[in-house]
Amino acid sequence: MVTSKKFASFVMIIGVGGALCGCDRVSTGDDTGESDQGTDTQSTDGQDTDSTNPAGQEREDQFKGSLGNTDVNAFYDMYGGPSAFGDNTRDVMERFLLAEEALYNGFVEESRDIVDGIWDDYPIASDAWTQGFSTPTDVNLDSPNVYGSVRMLHRILEYLETVPPNHIPKRVLTHTMIEVDCLSGIMPRTADEIEQGTGEETTRSFSTSLERHHYYRAHRLFGRYIEAITEGALGYEIKFIRQDDGECAPAGVKKGWAGPLNWYEPLTVLSPEVEEETDLYTVLFPDFRPTHLLAELDYGFTTGGMGSHQGRPVFICTDAAFTSQHAVHDTHLRAYNPHWLHHEYSHHLHSIYPEYNLEETDHSYFDRSTWPTDFEGRWQWDYYDEAYLKRYRGSSPSLSERIDF
Ligand SMILES: [Zn+2]
Repeated sequence: MVTSKKFASFVMIIGVGGALCGCDRVSTGDDTGESDQGTDTQSTDGQDTDSTNPAGQEREDQFKGSLGNTDVNAFYDMYGGPSAFGDNTRDVMERFLLAEEALYNGFVEESRDIVDGIWDDYPIASDAWTQGFSTPTDVNLDSPNVYGSVRMLHRILEYLETVPPNHIPKRVLTHTMIEVDCLSGIMPRTADEIEQGTGEETTRSFSTSLERHHYYRAHRLFGRYIEAITEGALGYEIKFIRQDDGECAPAGVKKGWAGPLNWYEPLTVLSPEVEEETDLYTVLFPDFRPTHLLAELDYGFTTGGMGSHQGRPVFICTDAAFTSQHAVHDTHLRAYNPHWLHHEYSHHLHSIYPEYNLEETDHSYFDRSTWPTDFEGRWQWDYYDEAYLKRYRGSSPSLSERIDF
């Protein structure tokens, strides 16, 4: 499936082939560390998880707020203009963005109408999703374009039919973002040098354009999705840590892989308090791909995936997963990032239901013939929803108990 340069930009992201999530489900065992090495924890709002007060409202507010560049036309222009995208890609994406925004402004019925309209024109798992969808090579909206995000939104809207308006989850999961300040290592100057392991010493610093409200935009659908699949039991909030101890973490480049030599290192210096409160982690590194060579290479680079720390899921990725190829843009954050989060988190969900053997080998569900006979659909996004509907929902222990062990 890795036939396009666009995947080279975001290789850790999605279902682009079994080899591309090299860090998937890496277990690191138990270990703890002191936390006096320059970590800085900053809370983003009240973080009150007491279900008897309006914590739900505070949590909701974390994901609101405005972002300057919400103009989808500006997004198209970054990549060659609207005509560089398939007609159906633009149609579905713009309708999705409207529906997602409607949901977050409390217009649930309007959001539902829009999503129902998408399914009317492009039925789930139908060939309609295979025609008229395309993107420029340097932007990734996953495959089929935006389909996974629409399915997540659909799941949320179905859940909202089952709870009262103002429902407050019993507990709020904390997702801690760990930003690693810089990476340093040998950067190949040519394609040959990638093979030879030579180049020049290079330091890459964390993107200065990535701000906290970007994370909120990128994660808000995912947060509501967790609430939906736990049937309202678990809410979701984000906290941040910036790791800057004055030394850059060692990094390297090999054919097909670029990043820190030890992605787990940032997790060894967390304070007990952070470990106690965190339910999900993301470790974010500066992008260490040889970006100057991507245009001439016919392969991409794995830069992350899904790991674990003390039984908690760890998303591993680079700042480029959020900043897009050219500049951070609201459209990319909302239409694309949920795919990546959902893909990686599904590895975790499969792992907490070992009795169902839903991922016998890495990404085995990319091969349709491996699906359980009662699963319908054709793409990974269908598989995830089938796993939820036909295995997780109604299980014992429940999904929320397994997530919040
Ligand atoms: Zn994967």
